[in-house]
Amino acid sequence: MMAKNPVVSIASSNVPVALLKREREPTMRPLIAGNWKMHGTGPQLPEIAAIAAGVRSTAPTADILICPPSTLITRAVQAAAGQIAIGGQNCASEMSGAFTGDVSAEMLKDAGAAWVIVGHSERRQHHGETDSMVAAKAKAAWRAGLLAIICIGETDAQRRAGNALTVCTDQIAGSVPEGITAVGNAIGYEPLWAIGTGHTPSLAEIGQMHLHIRQCLVARWGAHGRDVRILYGGSVNPANAHSVLAVPEVGGALVGGASLKATDFEAIINEIPAHV
Ligand code: PEP
Repeated sequence: MMAKNPVVSIASSNVPVALLKREREPTMRPLIAGNWKMHGTGPQLPEIAAIAAGVRSTAPTADILICPPSTLITRAVQAAAGQIAIGGQNCASEMSGAFTGDVSAEMLKDAGAAWVIVGHSERRQHHGETDSMVAAKAKAAWRAGLLAIICIGETDAQRRAGNALTVCTDQIAGSVPEGITAVGNAIGYEPLWAIGTGHTPSLAEIGQMHLHIRQCLVARWGAHGRDVRILYGGSVNPANAHSVLAVPEVGGALVGGASLKATDFEAIINEIPAHV
């Protein structure tokens, strides 16, 4: 049983209520993004073609993105046939130089990517990426003309200690650079303990965190922070997608394992609630 954080009160925050209580902008379509991680070679490309074909026939009211390994980006763009966007999973902050093995945002753009994920917890955990490194990568994405999904999220221990909200507050402060716009960015809230585990926070916990993230964005960027999409990520699957996507301030999903098979990913896309 996860410890609950204290409920965030809008009234007690410094954010004008008018900035939080508003109709969703018509341009703020949900974003359903698939993160293939280090999975996939040429033989998996038909999965992207199948997702693209499904999108062509069902015309979902959402933006659809797949982030395959860098080696597949150009071929994935061809397989996507203009129906879904293709993105990278990470980028270097530098444009070019003696950084063996790294891929710059400009290179991803050149390969055909439209988006890039930065600050995924697996990058933070396994590659020592800090908030300031993530902020530099987000700036690099914008410099290259890419849209960025900036990931944040607390560990199990941090949630159990009641620190989930403050951890995410600090990650937003450190990882999201000045200049964020709603059009070109999304925040990915991914509690680490939910990634690849089959465990998800309760809907109330997701709602509480997403409202908190919204408050942080609005407190710092005012109207610019109002419409930035906040994606939930962590064990999203066809069975839970509908209820997760219906939570207020959830502007889409970042999907790992369930994005690898077109049938699963399409089933998630088909679960987008009508009113979202
Ligand atoms: C992820 O990798 O960003 C993720 C959310 O993974 P999963 O959906 O498998 O938990």
